[in-house]
Parts: sequence; structure tokens; C-alpha cells
Amino acid sequence: MLSNLRKFVVSHKKTPILHVNNMCCSKMRASLQRLKSHVPLGRNYSSLPGLIGNDIKSLHSVINPPIAKIRNIGIMAHIDAGKTTTTERILYYSGYTRSLGDVDDGDTVTDFMAQERERGITIQSAAVTFDWKGYRVNLIDTPGHVDFTLEVERCLRVLDGAVAVFDASAGVEAQTLTVWRQADKHKIPRICFLNKMDKTGASFKYAVESIREKLKAKPLLLQLPLGEGKAFKGVVDVVNKEKLLWNPNSDDGKDFVRNPLLEMSDPELLKETTEARNALIEQVADLDDEFADLVLGEFSENFDLLPAEKLQTAIRRVTLAQTAVPVLCGSALKNKGVQPLLDAVTVYLPSPEERNYEFLPWYKGDLCALAFKVLHDKQRGPLVFMRIYSGMIKPQLAIYNINGNCTERISRLLLPFADQHIEIPSLTAGNIALTVGLKHTATGDTIASSKSSALAAARRAETEGGKKHRRNNEAERLLLAGVEIPEPVFFCTIEPPSVAKQSDLDYALKCLQREDPSLKVKLDADSGQTVLCGMGELHIEIIHDRIKREYGLETYLGPLQVAYRETILNAVCATDTLDRTLGDKRHLVTVELEVKPVETASVMPVIEYAGSVSEDLPTASQEAIENGIHSACLQGPLLGSPVQDVAVAVHSLIIHPGTSTTMISACVSRCIQKCCSWNFLYYVEWKW
Ligand code: GDP
Ligand code: MG
Repeated sequence: MLSNLRKFVVSHKKTPILHVNNMCCSKMRASLQRLKSHVPLGRNYSSLPGLIGNDIKSLHSVINPPIAKIRNIGIMAHIDAGKTTTTERILYYSGYTRSLGDVDDGDTVTDFMAQERERGITIQSAAVTFDWKGYRVNLIDTPGHVDFTLEVERCLRVLDGAVAVFDASAGVEAQTLTVWRQADKHKIPRICFLNKMDKTGASFKYAVESIREKLKAKPLLLQLPLGEGKAFKGVVDVVNKEKLLWNPNSDDGKDFVRNPLLEMSDPELLKETTEARNALIEQVADLDDEFADLVLGEFSENFDLLPAEKLQTAIRRVTLAQTAVPVLCGSALKNKGVQPLLDAVTVYLPSPEERNYEFLPWYKGDLCALAFKVLHDKQRGPLVFMRIYSGMIKPQLAIYNINGNCTERISRLLLPFADQHIEIPSLTAGNIALTVGLKHTATGDTIASSKSSALAAARRAETEGGKKHRRNNEAERLLLAGVEIPEPVFFCTIEPPSVAKQSDLDYALKCLQREDPSLKVKLDADSGQTVLCGMGELHIEIIHDRIKREYGLETYLGPLQVAYRETILNAVCATDTLDRTLGDKRHLVTVELEVKPVETASVMPVIEYAGSVSEDLPTASQEAIENGIHSACLQGPLLGSPVQDVAVAVHSLIIHPGTSTTMISACVSRCIQKCCSWNFLYYVEWKW
């Protein structure tokens, strides 16, 4: 059959914005405790970042580093590019772990849920805190699988900078593109790490080109690889004109030497590096006026004389301005290139105070924080991950939750270290904290010190907002982030082992939903069965798995079905008349309308009225028209799936006096269905 309609699977990008008010409640931690005996971590943890022993006095100085020395970063990439492996190396070199984890053996620190270890993927992002050369780095490991886009979005909101990891043999992959756009949306400065340089087929040039082409970014080559594939042995530092070689006999990559490139020993490489450095200088000068003045003035004769620090400062400025991205390379698996990557994180990515958060002045130093993740711990109750933007939090502090309009008390404060948490006495702006004791705070909630402080901030926002963007109301402006929840893409029925276990299943699903707002649960009105709706096959599989592991319920899943949507391919115009006499009353409506394709961010149809219709249109009739449009869009003619991405223009409407609103709705609805199913008039290719 030829059709003017197409069906498609809901795109992850089309996400209605809503504020999530979920309370997290799961038995994940409890199950972790149980699982620990089966899945030994096989590692030792050092006590505290930068600390020898657990000396509480020195703790104070370590807990709250100067804000300029804090880096809140995330690692983002396509699945399998090597995020987890890179994170493991980072934790090892920073002294956090004493042995190297391996995703292939399932003993990494950040992939701490049992399923992640088994499947070798990262599902729930965990925040990890460590120190590097006097800097405090809070690293949030974001999941790369497309099923978990919501997790990525949630984490990006709290980052100040990010490292994008690429598989050097594959270049930019689909998911990198998605995450890159999300990072653009949140204006997050980035650096790129071309990983897997040791892999057969790895190509620095190809990967750089693909960054330029697909991401439309300007790569700044701060390094060149020494060899590729099996021959990869180190990197050249272009900024400093140095060669970094890893000892082939070192099994953990800690042992490497950094030597200046000399005319005598490396004439070819020195020439190549000088050319690369000159090109880099020109590229940065093009993007940064201050640097251009410096280069053209003092150093125009000889770029070699330009000190590395001056070049670094300028690279930092363009990175922060997001006009270009520094590119580094290495092999996390073969332990090469990770230490310079960490140096680059501290040198080029911003500190929290270098980010421009428009809401900060409204709080005038009072507490302002965002709860970005909630986990449930059987012993400690809900654990809330928070990014502090201003002010300070400490144990026993009462805080005001703006979204929930409630006050509650933090009982304890922890520093997150994957599934290990260290108790701390206070935490200041710029840091990421893990709080215990908050029972009502949910993912996406904004936290202030008190209701009066929030009101004062709202007043300042109002004064300032009046000048800038009038449309947002005061409360909305105070909320730092609503988490965008995508529409589910897949669904299937789920059944408990026996009817008696239905209530246990309902409880488990309720808890899992609070923790993961992208999971939706429905009751099928016809069959009475419970239906799971998720972001993908893997997502549903993981939920199924967690119900078994964490709630001890063996459930049965029905066949997985795709949540299709239907849409129209071409604009269609139709007229319909409804003429019915009920009792002694005549109902007569004639409507002429057009249904046309449109790209919208929401599943709701866009409704337009011709001037002649909107003029003098009574509210009741308008409501009736819109009800008719909405009900027609609930079920498309192809599969009965919801109709999306359409606009409905009402061209003319004649209503006979005394016609009921129900009849108006019915007529409009029928006219839309007519437009949608007039497929035989249009010879249009069937699109999926
Ligand atoms: P993630 O999905 O991005 O977290 O990637 P993982 O760290 O789990 O790595 C995916 C696979 O790539 C694993 O089998 C790793 O051993 C492998 N891998 C990671 N880094 C490298 C690397 O630098 N070189 C090579 N050859 N393989 C790597
Ligand atoms: Mg991973």
C-alpha cells in the first residue's frame, strides 16, 4: 500500500521538558553488598585523596581546595571508545587505586553495578574524586549507550569541562555526535583524546579529519603520535617540542621519559614538530586577538622564541571560549598518553569560577546547589549527589528544596568515590558532594539555604530578568535544571511469577522508576497486564535483570515491541460537514482544515487558525476544536500509533447555532482522519 504517512520510532532528541520529582528508592546498594562476595573487586583503595592516613586535621585543608584548583569534568564517548579504561588509568595514576582495573575482566571502579561489570558497559554514572598535581578533579563517568541518554544529560548539567574519548581507528561515531551536541547545548569546553592509537587501523590523521568534518570543530593538535597501530610508542608534545616515550618494559605505564627534541638526535621529528607548532600558533592567533597581538609583535620573526606558557594560556582561552578543541592521543589500554591527558585537564579546562552561570549573582554567596542524581542505600537511605554552585554545605544543615517547596536536613556528608564513600565535615562551592538524610530531594531539584534566601534570589532574578528575558516566571528561573525525559521507544509486558507476587513487582517497579525517570510503567487497560516502556532493548533487559537481582523476583517479559509513531509526509487539505439531528436539535458544523508535516520538539500537534476563524471564536468552541485535534492525533491510520510532528491549520469553520461542542470535536477529528488517510490521492514513497 502506498501511503502519505510514515511510521517511525520516537527520536531520542525529541524530548518534552519536564521537571522530575522522583524520589529515589532502590535496593541497589544492598544488592551490591550481597554481590561483593561473588564479584571480588581485587583491589585496594587508598585512604583519601592527597592524604596519608586518615588524619582529620589535614582533612580540612584537603577537603575544600581553592576553587581555582577544582575541575569538574566528565568523560564522554561512543560505547567502546575506552571511557572506562581511560577512567581506570586516571584513577590509578592519580594514586586512587593501587592496581589497574580492566573492563574485560570486569573489575573496574566506576562500572560498579553488577550488570555493568558483566556486560562491560557503563550504565549508571558514578562520580569519582581524586587529586592530580595539586588540582582536585571530580570526574563523572557518563554512559555512552544510546539507551541511557537521560543519564548523560543529567550529568552534563553539572560539568564544567569534558574529555571526549574517541577510538582512533573509528573517528567520530554516532553516539559521540549526540553527546557532543548535548555538550554544545550546555556550553561545556572540551578536549579530545584519540584513544586506541595502538589498535591496528588507528589513524591520527583520519580521526582528526573526522572531528573537523563531523563535529564541525576546530582541532588544535597539541600532540603528534609516535608510531601508529602496533608501532605506537609515545607522543610528541607540540607545545613544548618534547618527546614522551613510555618504557616498553613497564607494565603499568607509570614509567615514561620526557625529552626535548634535539636537532642532533631527532632532526626529522624536530622539523615536523616545529611545523606543527607554527601551524598551531597561527591557528590560535586566528582565534584570539590578544595572542595575535603578541605573536605579531614580539615573536613575528621567530615563533620558536614564543614561550610554551604563553601558547598554553592562549590555547586555554580559546578552549574556554569553545572556538577550538585541543586534541591529544594515546592508548589507555597500553597505558600510554594518560598522564599528559590529565595535565591537559588541569591546564586547559575551566575551574568552576570560570564558568558563566547567570544565576550565581542572585544567590549572593548563599547556598545554591543542584541535586543531579539520587541513589538508594539500604542502610543510609537515599544518597543525593549534589553540585554546589555557591555557598557551603555541612552535616546537620537544614536546606530548602525549591522544587519540592520543603525544608529538610542533611545528616551526613560524603565524598563520592565510586561505590566507596568517605565522610567529610564540609564542602564549598564548585565541589560535588554526596549527602545522606535527604528524603524528599529528587533528581533535578534545586537547593537553597532557606526559603527566605530562595525568595531573595527570586527577587534579584526578577529585577535582572525583567531586563533580559521577560517570558520566564520567577520560580522557573530559580530552578537550575529540569531533567529532560525522552519518550520511551520500546515496550513489553512484564509478569510476576505468580499473582501473589504482583504487589512485590509493583513495589520494585515503583522504586526503579524513582531512580530512573526514563523507565515508564503502564497498565494495559484491555489485558490488565503491566507494561514496561523504556529507551531500548538493553534498557528493558537491565531493568528485568535488576528486578531479579535486587528484588528477588523472577519475572517474564512479553515480546519486545517498538513504540511507533506516525506522521504525515505532505500537507493535505480536507473539508468535512457533520449534520445530525438529535431529538429536536440540529447540530451542523462544517470545517476546512489542513494537516501538514512540521518538525516540533514535542509530540503535541501545532495548532494554527486562519484570521477569519480566530476572530470571534468562543473559548468553548476553540476548546472543542483542540480536543478534536488531540483525540484524532492519538491514533494514526497506519498502526493506530500516536501521530507526531504535524501541524493542523483550521482554515474555515461554520457552526450552526445550537450545535454542541462534542459535535464540533467529532467533526474536526473526522476531518483530520480524512486528511491522514487520503493516501490514495497522493503517490508518495513509503518511508520508515
Ligand atoms: P567504554 O565503553 O567507552 O567504557 O569502553 P571500555 O573502556 O569499556 O573499552 C571497550 C573495549 O575497548 C575494551 O575491550 C577495552 O579493553 C578496549 N580498549 C580500551 N582502550 C583501548 C586502547 O587504548 N587500545 C585498545 N586496543 N583497546 C582498548
Ligand atoms: Mg564504560
